[in-house]
Amino acid sequence: MSDRVVDPVCGMTINADEAPFSGEHQGSKYFFCSAECDAKFKADGDAYATVSRLNLPGWGMTPEPESVTRQRKRPPA
Ligand SMILES: [Zn+2]
Repeated sequence: MSDRVVDPVCGMTINADEAPFSGEHQGSKYFFCSAECDAKFKADGDAYATVSRLNLPGWGMTPEPESVTRQRKRPPA
C-alpha cells in the first residue's frame, strides 16, 4: 500500500513509502523528497504545515465546484 502525499516544502507529490525523509508537526505526519526540504520544514514547520493544509484539497486539478453547482441548479429550459 502506498499513499500519495505532498511534500509541503516544494509541493512535489511523492509516495509516502518511498519518501526518504519524514517528520511530525502538531500531530500530523509529513513527508519530504530531500534532506533540503526536511531541513526547511524543521526550521519553519508552522509556515509549511499551514500552506500544505490549504493547498491539499485543490491540488491543481479539482473541477470548479461553483460551475458544477450552477449547472445542477439551472432550471430546465
Ligand atoms: Zn521537496
